[in-house]
Amino acid sequence: MSEHEHHEHDHHDHDHSHLSEVQSRVRALETVLAQKGYVDPGVLDQIVEHFETRVGPHIGARVVARAWTDPAFRAALLDDATRAINDSGLFGPIGDHLIAVENDARLHNMVVCTLCSCYPWDVLGLPPVWYKSAPYRSRVVIDPRGVLADFGVTLPESTTIRVWDSTAETRYLVVPRRPAGTDGWSEEQLAALVTRDSMIGTGVAAAPGSRP
Ligand code: FE
Repeated sequence: MSEHEHHEHDHHDHDHSHLSEVQSRVRALETVLAQKGYVDPGVLDQIVEHFETRVGPHIGARVVARAWTDPAFRAALLDDATRAINDSGLFGPIGDHLIAVENDARLHNMVVCTLCSCYPWDVLGLPPVWYKSAPYRSRVVIDPRGVLADFGVTLPESTTIRVWDSTAETRYLVVPRRPAGTDGWSEEQLAALVTRDSMIGTGVAAAPGSRP
């Protein structure tokens, strides 16, 4: 690192030149909205903090683990995911139009938003960068099996892959298959196996002992 870079890095808190164009635009928009009285900057900070620290794939993982262990909850989840999650009172309120799709030996579900980046924020938090990338959005529809291979997942040819296209009105949560060798596991133990990618469909749930 050069002296020049080092100097700038030390002063990043006072120097906005490091902000990306998007960050700069967001900051400008926030400033204007606050000045016009539309947005309370404190509330905005709370919302951002909420999405950065409290909302994340750990919520979806708990939902999946419960579906694996509670047949009544599983049935309710597959019938109306938003209602099942909200009625349970266990996960905090989530928004409308969440649909849970379940994987089994014959069917593997994958989720994309071909138009933009619609994503089930309430249960998975912020979308990964690749989810918003043009290559993922275009290729998963044409060649889902190839995309899965890129993620290191190979499914039997006999497993059908279905790709669900999200919209602003319809978000999907994949319920991955429960890994073998987890009989008698608690919901908490099971939730630790449910990766973010397994709930998007670009991965499968982790095998017991494969995660630290
Ligand atoms: Fe979208």
